[in-house]
Amino acid sequence: MDKYDVIVVGSGITGGWAAKEFCEKGFKTLVIERGRHITHRGPEYTDMQAPWQIDNRNLVPERIAEEGRYGNIINKGFFKPATQQFFADESEHPISYPEDKPFRWVRSYQLGGRSVTWGRQVLRWGPKDFEANAKDGHGVPWPIGYDDLAPWYDRVESFIGVSANKDGLDVLPDGVFQKPWEMSCAERFISDNLKKKYTDRHLIIGRAANITEPTPEQQSLGRTQCQARSYCKRGCSFGGYFSSLSATLPAAERTGNLTVVTDAIVETVDYDETTGRASGVTVIDAHSKEKRQYKARVVFCVPWHWAQYKSYLTPSLQLFPMVWRIAVVLWVTTSWTTLRALLRMPKSPDLKILTLSVDVLLLLIFPITAMSKKTMPILFVVLATKLLRSIDRTRAQQQIK
Ligand SMILES: Cc1cc2nc3c(=O)[nH]c(=O)nc-3n(C[C@H](O)[C@H](O)[C@H](O)COP(=O)(O)OP(=O)(O)OC[C@H]3O[C@@H](n4cnc5c(N)ncnc54)[C@H](O)[C@@H]3O)c2cc1C
Ligand code: SF4
Repeated sequence: MDKYDVIVVGSGITGGWAAKEFCEKGFKTLVIERGRHITHRGPEYTDMQAPWQIDNRNLVPERIAEEGRYGNIINKGFFKPATQQFFADESEHPISYPEDKPFRWVRSYQLGGRSVTWGRQVLRWGPKDFEANAKDGHGVPWPIGYDDLAPWYDRVESFIGVSANKDGLDVLPDGVFQKPWEMSCAERFISDNLKKKYTDRHLIIGRAANITEPTPEQQSLGRTQCQARSYCKRGCSFGGYFSSLSATLPAAERTGNLTVVTDAIVETVDYDETTGRASGVTVIDAHSKEKRQYKARVVFCVPWHWAQYKSYLTPSLQLFPMVWRIAVVLWVTTSWTTLRALLRMPKSPDLKILTLSVDVLLLLIFPITAMSKKTMPILFVVLATKLLRSIDRTRAQQQIK
């Protein structure tokens, strides 16, 4: 069984960043990705292909919609024959949701995740965004504000490279920017006229993770200036836009601390009872369907979707031991009479049989529960005593009758 300092689950924007940070701090890091291994400038990139080299001249064939595939992305402009390889086919990976709450869940199962296909617009949250929900009465107030995040925005923008204009808007704070793209004549015309007529409406140039003035750090990773060809969705051989493949994973790799495993679907986060901590993960090999385990001191889960977190937790009762332990301790240490008094329930032989049955069941399943090794024997003895006393009392009552 392989052992690492850190396991990062998922290699998208978040996983790539986590891998870079951990590797640069000297931690032996394993990135586990469920999708296939694609390489930067590899054959999956189609940015160097001419229209006639792409299936159907890069027009989406009608049959794809008829077959119910890629339904969440098909009409969104991003999906073309030249980019199809970067999106999960929903007929192979179906999801369900309530009819009245449709959820357009676009997934990318490959090394780099959706960092390969994203729209590259990077907008900072402003101070108001951290306060808006509390003011509107939704959710709980944010525990951090803009000032806490600002230095981290600086750090990220410096590394990824953001081309943007410093517009001086309080709703959209400026950051560490490279030279912006120019507006077209029409855009300039609208922008100028908006400025004349309104103080609170602005048309600004997009803030894109496409580099216009590559820094030495970006160049050292093999990235060059964006060529403005607008083929980014196909993967960029110039490293002109930020992705895990063009930036964070190469940065992690050059430290010598990175190991990447692809085609490995993390099934569960494993839990060590003795330490009360995550100890690693169990993965299913996408091809052989065999399970294997990886161990690490830290497990960093960023597969993006909540369903995935749920599936990590569902098979493992061990992952919510406190709730389970408290419930068992309460049950074992509370006498039936006290419980009945607390719940104000009448005497009933049926309920007594039910509680006795639960006691017996608990005794039987104790060895396979998530109770800690130290408390389990004590609870076992208490429960057995409780059960024996209960049986004894029932017998005595029958004899009196
Ligand atoms: C078409 C499109 C355009 C977008 N444009 C923008 C934009 O302009 N600006 C913006 O800010 N955001 C944009 N987004 C959103 C942005 O791309 C995502 O928010 C971001 O990429 C999420 O990163 P992530 O690392 O959390 O997840 P992902 O990039 O989805 O990465 C998760 C990774 O985990 C892997 N994984 C999942 N389950 C498992 C498992 N069980 N075991 C192992 N690996 C697993 C997946 O295969 C994937 O590689 C866009 C998204 C799409 C689809
Ligand atoms: S990032 Fe720039 S160079 Fe790369 S595909 Fe996009 S437009 Fe072209």
